[in-house]
Amino acid sequence: MRVGKAEVLRIEEYHGLGFPPQAFLPDWEDTLVQKHLHWMVPRHYVPDEGRLVGSIHSWLIKLPNLTVLVDTCSGNHKHRPDNPFFSMKNSSYLENLLAAGVDPDEVDYVFCTHLHIDHAGWNTRLVDGRWVPTFRNAKYVVSRNEFERLVSDPNPSQDHLNLIVDTIQPIIDSKQWLLIDTPFQLCDELYIEASPGHTSEHCHVTLSSGGERAVFSGDIVHHPIQVHIPTWNSSACSVPLQAIRTRMQVLESLSETDTWLMPVHFARPFCCKVGKPQDGGFECIMD
Ligand SMILES: [Zn+2]
Repeated sequence: MRVGKAEVLRIEEYHGLGFPPQAFLPDWEDTLVQKHLHWMVPRHYVPDEGRLVGSIHSWLIKLPNLTVLVDTCSGNHKHRPDNPFFSMKNSSYLENLLAAGVDPDEVDYVFCTHLHIDHAGWNTRLVDGRWVPTFRNAKYVVSRNEFERLVSDPNPSQDHLNLIVDTIQPIIDSKQWLLIDTPFQLCDELYIEASPGHTSEHCHVTLSSGGERAVFSGDIVHHPIQVHIPTWNSSACSVPLQAIRTRMQVLESLSETDTWLMPVHFARPFCCKVGKPQDGGFECIMD
């Protein structure tokens, strides 16, 4: 799709069945979902399987003089014992990137909205038994506070310890991290702001070009039902009340403007616009 002068491409790692709804959205109630089944089934929810449908993808923003990749999925060959779904993947993500006409060496900036395992994985890849930066010429942009949150966690999970070794440290060694304080203007068209809640230091980036706008929202929302019912957090949201506040604020601001919402985990068509408030939430306009 085009947003002003920018071309925006989706680079897929995974699209298909995801987690059971009650496990991923703990407040899920079948009775509240009933009136949404007509648009959710089967593209976003498969009741017969008891599974949500989701995606893991990057958004690639091609500006006239700059190529920016937003979030980098799970990566291949990474050992994630706490989260088998994201562990030891062997996806064709890099082939998908090349098929989109982008050589990894052409990427100028990689922006991670946060440093969860499914948003930073392709920061590195395994070459001859060593983890090396996938994007050799890029600066890897992340909130300084998000970086500190991860590396100074007093109680890290095994997945986080592994993430630091295979994904964070190689980019420290190559001196490619660009740690930022928010808000941060990355270039004329891209503005990064804090959106705490999913992690305490989560950020998102707004693309503005030619009078058009798109918000690359990371994990502010995971599933389109959360546009209709923004008080439902995912089980992975670490500051729940703040996550709800941020989700409400961002959706409210999008509902007042003609702006694309570009999350990382929505199934096809992968993005939406946010319509008028209704029943405590917002209309989710996908087609
Ligand atoms: Zn995620």
